Amino acid sequence: MNTTTTPTDDTPLPEHFSDLALDARILRAVGEMGYEKLTPIQAKAIPLLLDGRDIMGAAQTGTGKTAAFSLPILQQLLPLASTSVSPARHPVRALMLAPTRELADQVYTNLKAYAKHTPLRCACVFGGMDMAPQKAELRGGVDLLVATPGRLLDHLEAKTVNLGQVQFVVLDEADRMLDIGFLPDLQRILGFLPKQRTTLLFSATFSPEIRRLAQSYLQDPLLVEVARPNATATNVEQRVYQVEEDDKRATLVQLLRDNPLPQVIVFVNSRLGAGRLTRALERDGIKAAAMHGDKSQAERLTTLDAFKRGEIQALVATDVAARGLDIAELPGVVNYDVPFSAEDYVHRIGRTGRAGASGLAITLATARDARSLADIEKLIKRQFEKLTVQLQPAMRPRRDADAPREPRSPRLTPSRGMPESLGTAVAPYPRMARTSRQDPWFDKPYEADPKAQPAWEPAESANAGNGQRSMSPSIRPRRKIAALLGGHGTK
Ligand code: AMP
Repeated sequence: MNTTTTPTDDTPLPEHFSDLALDARILRAVGEMGYEKLTPIQAKAIPLLLDGRDIMGAAQTGTGKTAAFSLPILQQLLPLASTSVSPARHPVRALMLAPTRELADQVYTNLKAYAKHTPLRCACVFGGMDMAPQKAELRGGVDLLVATPGRLLDHLEAKTVNLGQVQFVVLDEADRMLDIGFLPDLQRILGFLPKQRTTLLFSATFSPEIRRLAQSYLQDPLLVEVARPNATATNVEQRVYQVEEDDKRATLVQLLRDNPLPQVIVFVNSRLGAGRLTRALERDGIKAAAMHGDKSQAERLTTLDAFKRGEIQALVATDVAARGLDIAELPGVVNYDVPFSAEDYVHRIGRTGRAGASGLAITLATARDARSLADIEKLIKRQFEKLTVQLQPAMRPRRDADAPREPRSPRLTPSRGMPESLGTAVAPYPRMARTSRQDPWFDKPYEADPKAQPAWEPAESANAGNGQRSMSPSIRPRRKIAALLGGHGTK
């Protein structure tokens, strides 16, 4: 079994891209991206990769790891680059696997930019899109292919792609691929590749499973770290607010209004929760959009574009959907729900404070989250000071913030004295003042009509169980359960 070692060589690390043995066409593209100095992961990894080593990169998203693996791969493929139109001159020589569509798309966008002055052809295939155009592109010949595992297997089965000439493989965000249950798919894909190859594995965290994966598929890898595994970026201010469950929404709205955070990703633990919170925020006058696994690929890309243009303040996302979103200088993230896994906390707050910028990570914790918070504190090796928020009277929650737009009962009385400043933030339907809780009716548990479709749950969320209705016809259900059980599920 190979032992992973950390490079001990004392030679000084390169500082600038021009210090590296990179082709002028690559350097030109990097210059056009506005990069001046190497990030730490680039300074450490690129020389090793140019030397042909396998590496395990312990780097969070936002550290510049995409360029760290893309540039040396492009450099080494350049001697084989061909301007011929013949597909035979463009076999897949580099394969980059990413866990989500968004991350794959992000890696591809960067890769294309780095390769733009070379004849090397790049392509990206992921699910949720029609396979026909992907097949046509693959048949035309592709030198570097970015893919999600499921869709790549579809193409392998359809024989539209051949991996027999792959020289470089990148497993990006490998920890997340295992979380999603992609291990069986990864193993199958790796079985299609030549044994003689360079393999790179990047992961924000290094669990024993990740190390096992690396030991099975990497040869004598070097461990390249830019921060302690599971360390959180020091330029991110982390605040934890202790809140009552009922006050979470109001607290979030108040925090978004009080803090100069023009844009945030708000993390929730469920797709249903994402939809609900988005609608509640919109009713409170905050421009919000949901990003979760039930959204079609086209919807996700439209939302992401709108967010990047600044038309959306709060992107309410689940962990998987938010993975791989490259949003430059995101000033803050909010953990509306404390994540179930402490490692997700590290991933989430890694969305802010990217490329050296400072960021704010706010977590709303209820009494029920004590255990999860303790796990996070243990992982990141620091104690949180628990802060409290004094809710402004106007921000106090209605009993049921998800209430339908029409009053359900004459007992719902319009609130008085809503401050001007809330303007359009005031929902266009009557609000329930807190004092109305004195009416015992409001203390009764909510009893839903078991036959009724809740008015505030559109068909899409109500159907979240199978996750299909909101998808475009070209999207097939994700292979979740079967993959977790070791199979491959529906394809
Ligand atoms: P990544 O970790 O690869 O997702 O990169 C995070 C962001 O940093 C992306 O927007 C990159 O375009 C950007 N980036 C990568 N390398 C550099 C660099 N050397 N200087 C400035 N920005 C960079």
